[in-house]
Amino acid sequence: MKNISILGSTGSIGTQTLDIVRRNSKELNVVALAAGSNIKKLEEQIREFRPEIVCVWDEEKAKELKTLIRDVDVLIVSGMDGLIETAIVESASIVVTAVVGMIGIKPTIAAIRAHKDIALANKETLVTAGHIIIPLADENNVKILPVDSEHSAIFQCLNGENPKEVEKILLTASGGPFRGWTREQMQNVKLEDALKHPNWSMGRKITIDSATMVNKGLEVMEAKWLFGVSYDDVEVVIQPQSLIHSMVMFRDGGVMAQLGTPDMRLPIQYALFYPSRVLLDSPRVDFSKISKIDFYTPDLENFVGLKMAFMAGRKGGTLPTVFNAANEMAVAKFLDRKIRFLEITDIIQGAMENHRLSENPDIDRILSVEKETYEYIESRW
Ligand code: NDP
Ligand code: MG
Repeated sequence: MKNISILGSTGSIGTQTLDIVRRNSKELNVVALAAGSNIKKLEEQIREFRPEIVCVWDEEKAKELKTLIRDVDVLIVSGMDGLIETAIVESASIVVTAVVGMIGIKPTIAAIRAHKDIALANKETLVTAGHIIIPLADENNVKILPVDSEHSAIFQCLNGENPKEVEKILLTASGGPFRGWTREQMQNVKLEDALKHPNWSMGRKITIDSATMVNKGLEVMEAKWLFGVSYDDVEVVIQPQSLIHSMVMFRDGGVMAQLGTPDMRLPIQYALFYPSRVLLDSPRVDFSKISKIDFYTPDLENFVGLKMAFMAGRKGGTLPTVFNAANEMAVAKFLDRKIRFLEITDIIQGAMENHRLSENPDIDRILSVEKETYEYIESRW
């Protein structure tokens, strides 16, 4: 039996992780859950999965939850201390990091130090603190198992291969709902249009990130850290049908690709059961119905978020944190209908231009840069 802790259990990845647990209840057991404020869903999850400990970020909501489930034997905690407690709970051997945003950094580090394997969905953690997290995982003999579908695909393609023989990572992207559009055409896009991803159903923040292609930029940085490659060796390939989830080219020219229907439960399950593959009752790829697979190069002139991500990643230091924090705040404003779609990347650009980079930041510096970036944006927009 594998005991798991799920940070962000009420979200898109969190609920799909619980679905995998539900389907594999002889092998998987939930011991800890954490969410921001959705206590209604947490109550249902507690009653179904009976964890030992549950964190609700919001202290008031944590109190309300205690009342709601007073008949159940479970410890309710809150805030960052609580989130860390759920990440390091003694009985868990693996932690699924499915919270959204940089809030994931501290609990992920705590879990690694407590020798838990990490099923990593929260890409913001590696983007901002990859230079700390990857060596720390190595030191503690902890596996970082990618949940993001592209990185899971690459991880699957690398299974049994020598990482030194990799020539290039080919990171695929659907291109999002505005693929082929110019900035002029994107000027007046509505929130509702940006929230309509052509292939994947995901949380709101990452869906907007996919529409701006900032998501692919974050994934390029995530790939750099996960697979130890340089930015010159990561190529983004647009593949609108989202059938190929990513590919690896080796030095003999051979290319391995992982294909599947767009269903996050496969990468989640692969991370939880690695290196085994277990039955997943999901739609299969039907090659008799696929007439073609298209490939395009990304349009960096109209999707400047991807171009800026490569720049932030290459310069490194605190710049990826600025890129990520500015995006988090800009997307929150766009979701609140306070700014227009194209202003998301304008804000990122402004914050990056304003920043004085420092090399090799520690966690405190990363978090203070996050705060400074927010303050800068608040003073301008
Ligand atoms: P959602 O917005 O659907 O879910 C976010 C989860 O985080 C919710 O459970 C939310 O709780 C919780 N949360 C938010 N703030 C806090 C906090 N302060 N403390 C504790 N929990 C908090 O996001 P997704 O599931 O879409 O994405 C999660 C992560 O996975 C992101 O980093 C994303 O980039 C990555 N990812 C997602 C994919 C997907 O298919 N969805 C694919 C690849 C990567 P509450 O409900 O209470 O607000
Ligand atoms: Mg992805």
